[in-house]
Amino acid sequence: MERTTAITKQTTQEEKITRNNMNITNIKAYGTEAADAPLKTLNIRRRNITPHDVEIEILYCGICHSDLHVVRNEWNGTTYPVVPGHEIVGKVTRVGDHVTKFQAGDLAAVGCIVDSCRSCEYCKEGEEQFCENGWTVVFNSPDKILGGQTYGGFSESIVVDENYVLHVPEKLDLASAAPILCAGITVYSPLKHWKAGPGKKVGIIGLGGLGHMAIKIAKAMGSHVVVFTTSQSKADDAKRLGADEVVLSKDAEQMKQQSKLDIILDTVSAKHDVNDYLKMLKVDGALVLVGLPVDQLPVGAFNLVNGRKSFAGSNIGGIAETQEVLDFCAEHNITADIELINVQQINEAFDRLEKGDVKYRFVIDMVPLKN
Ligand code: NAP
Ligand code: ZN
Ligand code: ZN
Repeated sequence: MERTTAITKQTTQEEKITRNNMNITNIKAYGTEAADAPLKTLNIRRRNITPHDVEIEILYCGICHSDLHVVRNEWNGTTYPVVPGHEIVGKVTRVGDHVTKFQAGDLAAVGCIVDSCRSCEYCKEGEEQFCENGWTVVFNSPDKILGGQTYGGFSESIVVDENYVLHVPEKLDLASAAPILCAGITVYSPLKHWKAGPGKKVGIIGLGGLGHMAIKIAKAMGSHVVVFTTSQSKADDAKRLGADEVVLSKDAEQMKQQSKLDIILDTVSAKHDVNDYLKMLKVDGALVLVGLPVDQLPVGAFNLVNGRKSFAGSNIGGIAETQEVLDFCAEHNITADIELINVQQINEAFDRLEKGDVKYRFVIDMVPLKN
């Protein structure tokens, strides 16, 4: 019943917008019309600000492996044209009449979540990523206000309800802070939930965008960090980034010698065997999946049962926790190690990301898109 009312309300709102021919701005974006087509300049619509909205000029946007999964339709849920991008930082250009948290000129950021029902158990607890009525993803999600799909941060500007906009601490370098909006929160949330900290041994599988942020954040929390990588060439970097130990996961001898871990964060984007890692957990330890490979990951029952182990998962983090990780990163001087690129290099960056060839996050300078 409640759901019907919500949908009716939404329809009424959409009708009103159509009737009023809601003010819409056409802007430039970068996206694609097919899974096998390169990204190119597209024109998209943004709503003009409503009373609770903040309009942000996008200065930088990170490239997450999820953008790649969606652009190539690897999860089978992509509606084209798609404009990816969910690690957005920029400057507020305009605010609606009822906005209280932002004003023009403020630094602002937007991550994955741009709306949710605001009334379910999880929204009330600040865990909008588990909204029972379906939260709105910043891209490739039904746009409840304009209709059609939402378009992400590979664009000139974005309009978002102030409750889903984050403050960027002034001391953070803006370009390298962008990846905190997804990579940062995605690893911070489970590390906090599973109580990483002093006396805890944390394993991190995969040294990419998420993995390198996980090293920095787990170290700042006081944990002992062990990195598992398939890339010999990343071993020195893992140490430089703060890892206490590095294990080349293709080397059976090194894997066998590994001592027991309390928490393992699995950030791998492709099919791999988790059973070797489950065996490394202490009693009551947890292997937490944040990577989202297309293929299923088989788990041997004995690897879990023996030692009361958990095989768990975690999905980004809520709005309040995203603000918390931005503030945590400012306090601990943490930003991403980035390769700053221009819009014309996006296709090359996607190809390199697919091969695991990025140190350690591509961030796009979005300003030239306007010109
Ligand atoms: P990324 O930068 O490409 O890093 C992934 C890393 O996984 C690679 O650098 C590589 O590390 C390792 N890897 C890749 N293929 C592998 C294979 N076949 N076997 C073993 N290791 C392999 O990607 P990312 O942006 O960090 O994202 C990682 C995953 O998390 C993606 O699936 C993404 O969609 C997902 N994600 C989930 C959430 C969430 O909320 N749960 C949020 C953001 C992203 P080494 O070279 O060190 O082995
Ligand atoms: Zn992401
Ligand atoms: Zn909700």
